[in-house]
Amino acid sequence: MAAYRIFASPEPQNWLKQWRAVFITRKAILPSVKKKSRHLHTNILQKASNEQTCSLDHGRISDNKPIPCRYHEKLRNEIIAIHKRMKPSWRNASTDKWLDSFDVAKLFMQSAGYEDKRSFDEIDFNGLAAFIYNCGEFTSTVETLSDEAR
Ligand SMILES: [Zn+2]
Repeated sequence: MAAYRIFASPEPQNWLKQWRAVFITRKAILPSVKKKSRHLHTNILQKASNEQTCSLDHGRISDNKPIPCRYHEKLRNEIIAIHKRMKPSWRNASTDKWLDSFDVAKLFMQSAGYEDKRSFDEIDFNGLAAFIYNCGEFTSTVETLSDEAR
């Protein structure tokens, strides 16, 4: 009964409503996020299509330190160019994983809390929102979906 009384007061009720809205919004935007991430990945790979494909881990990547691989250097430069704040989270995915669209999407998420995630189903709303914002590709779709979720 004590727990019920706590949740029956106005403040937790508002909190629950907000949590529910975030939960529903996340579920609504997820399919579109997955699809956009595949498109984005295809476009990024396209920029290095005239180089030999590489799946090596080149260690720590930074925004401007040379990478001893033309393929990954082109991908890195394209990712920076697309990133809205031009500040990808390189630690979220090493270069050997960049052939996977989900791992490239992680480069557009926050720099903490996502490096061990293996699929979009493990990504919380904040991670999806950061990806959406930083890859700058989706404004109209997301606005529509957010409205529907509301
Ligand atoms: Zn490489």
